[in-house]
Amino acid sequence: LICSGTDITEERRAQERLTELANTDSLTGLANRNAIQDKIRAAISSAPDGVSVGILFLDLDNFKKVNDHYGHVFGDRLIKDVSAAVGTCLNEGDTLARLGGDEFIVLAATGTVASLEATAQRILDRLRTPFSLGLVEVYTGCSIGIALCPEHGDSLESLIRSADTAMYVAKDEGKRTYRVFSQEMDRKVAEYMWLDTNLRRGIDEGQFTLYYQPKLSISTGAVTGAEALIRWNSPERGQIMPTEFIRYAEESGLIGHLGRWVMQTAAAQAARWKAAGLNLRVAINVSARQLVDTAVVRHFAEALQQAALDPCLVDLELTESCLIEDEAAAIQLITQFRQLGAQVHLDDFGTGYSSLSQLGRIPLDVIKLDRSFVRSINENTKAQALVRSMVAVAQELNFKVVAEGIETEAEEAFMKGLGVEYVQGFLYGQPMPAVEFEQWLRERQKLRLIA
Ligand code: C2E
Ligand code: CA
Ligand code: CA
Repeated sequence: LICSGTDITEERRAQERLTELANTDSLTGLANRNAIQDKIRAAISSAPDGVSVGILFLDLDNFKKVNDHYGHVFGDRLIKDVSAAVGTCLNEGDTLARLGGDEFIVLAATGTVASLEATAQRILDRLRTPFSLGLVEVYTGCSIGIALCPEHGDSLESLIRSADTAMYVAKDEGKRTYRVFSQEMDRKVAEYMWLDTNLRRGIDEGQFTLYYQPKLSISTGAVTGAEALIRWNSPERGQIMPTEFIRYAEESGLIGHLGRWVMQTAAAQAARWKAAGLNLRVAINVSARQLVDTAVVRHFAEALQQAALDPCLVDLELTESCLIEDEAAAIQLITQFRQLGAQVHLDDFGTGYSSLSQLGRIPLDVIKLDRSFVRSINENTKAQALVRSMVAVAQELNFKVVAEGIETEAEEAFMKGLGVEYVQGFLYGQPMPAVEFEQWLRERQKLRLIA
């Protein structure tokens, strides 16, 4: 009897040990995915009416970088230290679990938005202090999504999904912050998923076209070139404007592929116009994200070659965001583009953060005054003074100035008065397919001959 009693105890101990192993994250000693799922499920089913169950979904913001840069051993240590640090920010009765990788969940003892937000804020504050791992100090940070049951999901799965969505939005809206789930977020994520599938397919199936908007010399009225603006002809939704999908293409990296197509198409069009005897330069928009890949210069050169476009009649419009991250790299790229014969234009001038002193160091040809400034001159004299000084600075630095978004004669007259050289806007012409652009050009020449 005694013998068999020992057996049972040992068996039970072994069983307990197995259960513990199955529920523990081996790196951090925290509850693992399995365990936290069980706990959340139990919390949901035992919560009294009117009492919510709340969770926080945490994801480190730069873990992949740390791992790639310092290696896995280092990454593992960071995960351990972070989990210990997060543990100090919790309320009594909260459970911290590691889902795997750099993802954590907190099951809160108190399911109110205020208390969950307070916990999230403590975690964010704590992670502002760097972690020292040996000789290295690592700054990390995390994005946190908050969700409650039953408000944001009435099952384990939907609760975690909602918290994950809110985390994703926190990341998207700047990182190192938290968001409480809302239904609006679901729509946003659904839109992202739609874009992800369909943008890829759209690129493969050639659903994109370039429209061309004329650029004119303000003093002679001559059409000097065109800006190429992308349009997406979706079989499902019809024409989609770039503001609806460029940002997503940038975030997903698809912009590389799309941007290359833009280069090739614009170069081919410029070559066709040149062959037809038209004297037009074509400007394409290039995202900061495209410049991260230094092969972009080679792709541009290849596009020119393929189109047999010599001299280069394709120009690049870059935004200020291309200049801020790494100025030296930006200067190098811009220099290479210019060596290939492209002019480089600074788009949306005035909306970004580049300082005036920085502008003096960047080898640019043209500055495009953002259309929000053009619009503002109708409103007050302060705005006019601002535009006047912006143009003066550009001229001082020897850049040509294009005013975009000109819609009225008054706006044109104002720009002319400032000595702006080029204009673009609905007053002259909308973005049009290439064939329509040619027609527009012919009509215009006819009118000019009569006049
Ligand atoms: P953007 O480079 O500032 O382009 C000018 C935008 O202003 C265009 O919008 C154009 O249609 C619009 N516009 C032109 N004249 C007027 C006017 O007189 N009044 C008003 N209200 N608007 C005017 P669109 O075509 O919707 O393009 C939006 C943005 O999408 C562009 O802004 C550009 O940043 C981006 N984009 C367009 N094509 C490409 C592309 O091929 N690659 C990349 N990376 N971005 C692109
Ligand atoms: Ca532009
Ligand atoms: Ca612009």
